[in-house]
Amino acid sequence: MEKVLCLDIGGSSIKSSLVDRNGKIYEENKMVIAEETYECFLETVRDIVDNLSEKPAGIAAALPGGYDIKNDEIFAPNLQILNGRHIKKDIEKVCSLKVTAENDANLATYGEYVFVEKKQIDNMVFCTLGTGFGGGLVLNGKLLQSNITLFEVGHMSINQSGRICGCGRKGCLDEYCSTSGLMEIYKSLGGKDNINPYKLGEKAKNNEDIAIKTFEEYGKLLAFVFGNLAALFCPEKIKFGGGLSELAEYYIKPLNDEFNKILFPAYKGRVKIEQAELKNQAGVLGAAALFFEL
Ligand SMILES: [Zn+2]
Repeated sequence: MEKVLCLDIGGSSIKSSLVDRNGKIYEENKMVIAEETYECFLETVRDIVDNLSEKPAGIAAALPGGYDIKNDEIFAPNLQILNGRHIKKDIEKVCSLKVTAENDANLATYGEYVFVEKKQIDNMVFCTLGTGFGGGLVLNGKLLQSNITLFEVGHMSINQSGRICGCGRKGCLDEYCSTSGLMEIYKSLGGKDNINPYKLGEKAKNNEDIAIKTFEEYGKLLAFVFGNLAALFCPEKIKFGGGLSELAEYYIKPLNDEFNKILFPAYKGRVKIEQAELKNQAGVLGAAALFFEL
């Protein structure tokens, strides 16, 4: 069965794997980009292709940042080596293979949809909870795509005089629903240690009051955000993935309780909230699904 080479592209390394139409993953690898230049990035991609045990049907790239599909241009102001580059055209030239590219949160959305939900539902919102807050939307069975990456949920503001976001706006969800947002809640409740979310999870497991309250507040905040997204799209499911989704056991109850309270009345009982199933393979599988037009 033919396979596509999927690239999960970061600022300093590229994760790669071959994926077939059934979503089976082979030859997982990670290559460090030796020098922070675009030329070195392209060489790394060529090395990955040269080291494969078979010739792939093409390459599907998952990109950090926005992507203009029409003009093949990356918008990633924090990643100088990629910002403004025409990645599809350049990789096609270097590797002589067909290339597709899309924003990684969009691809994670599509991966979870195609390989987990497609047979059951038509509309799905997907959010990633991690160092940032991203997401994507499947509407009527299709991934929402345009000439620029849409559905920038992380940059919806919940406070016009709130914390300043990396994008320059104030009060963006990226600052509140992400790892740093969780830690801000912890601090605001009197938490003093400089700990990571997993340590906070351990504290919650040990019934430490402040950790339990932090996750409660976080769950309520997500409910508020998901309530707004539900009001726009009334998806059958809102799913969440990313690093913080692995701590869902500590906030899923307050999240669900609050969500069911504040959901737009006409939509009650129609929108389910669930943790994503595919974990960190969602993006790679979404890249393959889009390449094979599944
Ligand atoms: Zn922002």
